[in-house]
Amino acid sequence: MKRFNHFDARSIEEAVSLLQEGGGPAYVIGGGSDLMGCLKDNLWMEYPERIVNLKTIPGLKDIREEDGALHIGALVTLTELAEAESVKATWPSLSEAARRTGSPLLRNMGTVAGNICQENRCWYYRYPDKIGGRIDCVRKGGKRCLAVPGDHRFHSIFGAVNKCIAVNPSDTAPSFVALNATIKTTKRDIPIDQFFSAEMGAQSTVLDRDEIVTEIIVPKPEAGPTSAFRKIAFRQSIDFALVNCAASLAIVDDTITSARVCLNGVHNNPRRCEATEEALMGKKLTEALAQEAGELAVADAKPLFQNGFKVQMAKTIIADTLMDCIK
Ligand SMILES: Cc1cc2nc3c(=O)[nH]c(=O)nc-3n(C[C@H](O)[C@H](O)[C@H](O)COP(=O)(O)OP(=O)(O)OC[C@H]3O[C@@H](n4cnc5c(N)ncnc54)[C@H](O)[C@@H]3O)c2cc1C
Ligand code: SF4
Repeated sequence: MKRFNHFDARSIEEAVSLLQEGGGPAYVIGGGSDLMGCLKDNLWMEYPERIVNLKTIPGLKDIREEDGALHIGALVTLTELAEAESVKATWPSLSEAARRTGSPLLRNMGTVAGNICQENRCWYYRYPDKIGGRIDCVRKGGKRCLAVPGDHRFHSIFGAVNKCIAVNPSDTAPSFVALNATIKTTKRDIPIDQFFSAEMGAQSTVLDRDEIVTEIIVPKPEAGPTSAFRKIAFRQSIDFALVNCAASLAIVDDTITSARVCLNGVHNNPRRCEATEEALMGKKLTEALAQEAGELAVADAKPLFQNGFKVQMAKTIIADTLMDCIK
């Protein structure tokens, strides 16, 4: 790892000014479970000169209900999110997504903001430059994607963004999309549908370099806690998702009055399944409808040579997640 200066910020204002100071790029650090790997393997084109620690700022670790919404501080850990009784009761998909992330150690370290801001896990991109030299793919400023002609078993089944077919690896992101969350930052409130962006070079969100997530706000479900999350991974104990899915439904008198469904691990950004949502509206949820909804979500999939299996997974996980909503 190269040298960098580490600062313990005492307030959000101080953290922002540390990010803005002259003298090269700077990054914030939450739990560090993703960032430290990025630094160690020298992923970025610009190596940071300053790392600004947010954990020394008070007031970013609360989970509270206010004005009919759940407010989750940026530094809330995944363990805290998974175990909060209010989240389990009213936003079960979020609690389950946090519970299924990584291992106990990672959930104790990893923060909710870090989880939605983490970098992709493409193995060419993550290849340590100390072993056999640096692999400069498109996302590292090179001209080509190594995964398209190479090993793309776990990559996008919905095409590329800026020639890159890496997928968003976050487990909590699809739940935040399904629950229509808002990301509060030091500059603005960002609706979750506008938060993720694989267009932005080596980052996964629209955040500016001097912008910090302070809170995630999740509205109360319209008609009871009908949300669910599922994840398919090789190992139950610790693994990134091959495909994961979150769904949130409002059901009144057996009729679906609103639906938000999101897949992740299938495209550069978490993917809202709008055709699925439309097909559910105004109907009673049955096994047959859930399966039809799954089919619709992958109707425009463009799997590559090695990852057609993920299409079947995506179809099935949607049907199963929808049925979990009414269990
Ligand atoms: C072995 C292993 C297994 C993993 N398994 C999973 C998994 O199954 N599912 C999953 O979703 N993830 C997984 N992860 C990824 C990651 O560790 C976790 O998602 C974790 O939640 C990241 O949070 P963190 O606080 O440690 O982030 P950090 O490493 O501190 O930060 C990650 C990124 O977010 C930025 N950031 C952090 N906080 C803020 C903020 N408040 N505002 C703006 N930017 C911010 C940082 O600058 C950095 O770019 C795994 C990681 C490892 C090493
Ligand atoms: S998928 Fe993206 S990150 Fe992976 S090699 Fe291709 S350009 Fe690089």
